[in-house]
Amino acid sequence: MKTYPIYLNGEFVPTEKTLSVTNPATGEVFAKVSTVDRTRVARAVADAHAAFAGWRALTAKVRGEFLHKIADELEMRRDEIARTITMEAGKPLQQSSGELALTIDHLHWFAEEGRRAYGRVIPHQADGKRNLVVKTPIGVVAAISPWNFPLVLAVRKIAPALAAGCPVILKPASATPLCALMFAEACDAVKLPRGVFQLVCGSASEIAAEFLENPLVRKITFTGSTEVGQKLIEGAAKYIKPLSLELGGLAPLLVFDDADLEKAVEGAMLAKFRNTGQSCIAANRIYVQRGIYDRFVQRFVEKAKAQKLGDGLEPDVQIGALIDEAGLKKAIEHVEDAVKRGAKLLCGGKRADRPGYFFEPTVLVDVPKDVLCMKEETFAPVAAITSFETEAEGIELANSAPFGLSAYVFTRDLSRTFRLMESIEAGMIGINDGLPTTSNAPFGGMKMSGWGRELGAEGLDAFLETKHISIAL
Ligand code: NAP
Repeated sequence: MKTYPIYLNGEFVPTEKTLSVTNPATGEVFAKVSTVDRTRVARAVADAHAAFAGWRALTAKVRGEFLHKIADELEMRRDEIARTITMEAGKPLQQSSGELALTIDHLHWFAEEGRRAYGRVIPHQADGKRNLVVKTPIGVVAAISPWNFPLVLAVRKIAPALAAGCPVILKPASATPLCALMFAEACDAVKLPRGVFQLVCGSASEIAAEFLENPLVRKITFTGSTEVGQKLIEGAAKYIKPLSLELGGLAPLLVFDDADLEKAVEGAMLAKFRNTGQSCIAANRIYVQRGIYDRFVQRFVEKAKAQKLGDGLEPDVQIGALIDEAGLKKAIEHVEDAVKRGAKLLCGGKRADRPGYFFEPTVLVDVPKDVLCMKEETFAPVAAITSFETEAEGIELANSAPFGLSAYVFTRDLSRTFRLMESIEAGMIGINDGLPTTSNAPFGGMKMSGWGRELGAEGLDAFLETKHISIAL
């Protein structure tokens, strides 16, 4: 079994202690990765700080060229990286290739967007003064990423930070460090200056404590659970450390009577079952208007049942393994709770009879409002469907959660589209679109789903300070 080093200050460094990487499709450990303690993280921060002056001094064009080259390196190793994502995260191979393609697009997009970190000249209102706004890189960035989209969610932070002129230290999820290592290999291959990108693995709380308390770390950008986000907010309070937080969701998906049925079913399948339901923007609550309810449920169940479940490395698999035993237990608990409290189970509902952490694609209908799967992220291939009568009721249901990451609406009525676009409380709304993510538009949530935005122009701005310069002539 291979033991991988980590990447510190331009070198791949093996350490004594390691963590194990398990393939969720088999339940077997297949790799080990070196870990570091807090003292070594502090050294990485010092090295990143030392690299900052040189990196920010390069032109945005030159920094962008590095990003383009990193993207090309990833492209050259496309098959190997996609297989690695599948082996560590359980994701069907086709979806791992999709994740890699989006990662590459993020890199190319921010390579160019870095050149547009514009300030502005403000028309003066005091005689003898001129006012300018300039944007400067914030400094050393610490990034903490989750396992569900292990490469693209890390790069959604790294690419804009590097483009803005900031060095980055990444701590990936312990379940999925291998594709982050491959990213480090790409940085090394293109000779990114030492210290500009570093990778640390190990105890999350120890590493986060150093990120929070070390004054040289100027920004922490985190994607993960709302619970850990809350801990970071508490820890950051003492040091007023700036945070970007991409946290949990509980996306509502509304289907109106006037929707195109096939489009709505396709969109709901994608929004629900992509990544085996383990997505922060997964449609956790599906609300269907009374007049189309029965037809929608029938088509949706047919499609849900037809999905192929298996090891993501096998051809044509659509439902892969869940990340671990805890993920499986949560799915079972949510289904049992819903059925006990009146929901009808139309398909699936149990662990698949094979090794690894597989759960059958599941559809629950007539699901009451207050059951677990309507109140908490299920993070599994479990679709919870219920009906509503009026547009006002649909909006109220959609906004009833304390989260506001993404929402989906299926309708052909243009006036309704505008009403919902304005009233639904979510950072991203897909109208007849089950997958709204794109490099050039902001991604992030309202309410308990987090602070700030990634991607788009906002994604670059997250790593820039805004300075007002007042010049007396
Ligand atoms: P998680 O348990 O919060 O872990 C995310 C990352 O935080 C991992 O790297 C983890 O490290 C680290 N971590 C754990 N404890 C920490 C601590 N005390 N301080 C600092 N970092 C700590 O979340 P997850 O289970 O990996 O991911 C699923 C969650 O992420 C879901 O709630 C999902 O909705 C959310 N998510 C949100 C978005 C978004 O864009 N809004 C995108 C994807 C996922 P270890 O792995 O070493 O524990």
